[in-house]
Formats: sequence, structure tokens, C-alpha cells
Amino acid sequence: MPKRKPEQLGERKRVGGWMGSPNSIASVLRGRVPLQDQRKCARCRCVAMRGLKYCRMHAGRWAKRSDGPGYAERRLLCRLERAGLLPLELLALPVWRDIRGFPAALRSPVRLALVQAWDKQYSDPLHWAAVQRQAIDLAKQPGGYPTQVPWYENA
Ligand SMILES: [Zn+2]
Repeated sequence: MPKRKPEQLGERKRVGGWMGSPNSIASVLRGRVPLQDQRKCARCRCVAMRGLKYCRMHAGRWAKRSDGPGYAERRLLCRLERAGLLPLELLALPVWRDIRGFPAALRSPVRLALVQAWDKQYSDPLHWAAVQRQAIDLAKQPGGYPTQVPWYENA
């Protein structure tokens, strides 16, 4: 039986370097819509999201950053959380947990101060105590999350 040629096996010659697998490249190109033919957002003519009339911004998935009081601290805390820099021992403390029902304007500056004082609790214990006192005083104010129930009810 004579040896088969590469063309008979469905292979493409590799002269000139890697051309990609003909099957995978063809399957990608078959489903591709050129940019000028893609659906555009009804408001700003950006490329619209799949199945929607609007782009990512105008579909409501994107929100203008809130700049109310305390929101810069809130965003910084979110960034620290995403970076894994919030100590879990601190998040478990009652001083952290008991202020969770208050609005960001009251809560976030106190929590950021707690985070900043956390690693100085042995070198500057008075500052740590003062920051904790700030959080405890805030938790005592009305309007927060109900803390009469034991903490494990809300865990
Ligand atoms: Zn748009």
C-alpha cells in the first residue's frame, strides 16, 4: 500500500511557518461579525452588549461612582479587601461588626481608622484604644444594625 500524501490526510503544508489549524481558524472566522456590522448602542454608538440594545455603560451595568461623604474611604476599603489586605482577625472583632448597619458616611471612616491602627496596636496601644472607642461610641448610637441579638445570630 503506497504511503499517503499529507493533502490526503487533510493536513496543510507548514511552509512559511505555523498557519494555524485550518479547522480552528475557520470556525472562529465563521462566527465573526466585522466591527462595522456589529450592533451599536442606541445612545452612543459603541458596540452593544450581546442581546441588548445598549453598550456596557448605557445598559445600566456601569454606575457613576458615588462621591458622598465617606465614600472615598469605602472605596479604599473595597480595594484593600480585593487586595487581601483586610486582617480577618479585625473583621471578626465586635468593634468592626457592630457598626455595620450605619451609613457609609459614619461607618467607613471609622473602619478605615481601625485598619490603619491595626498593625500599630502594640507600638501605639493608646491610639488603637482611641480608635476602638470611636467605633464603640458609634455602635452605641441609634440607627445601626440591631446588636441586641448575639453575634452568632447574624454570622
Ligand atoms: Zn452607549
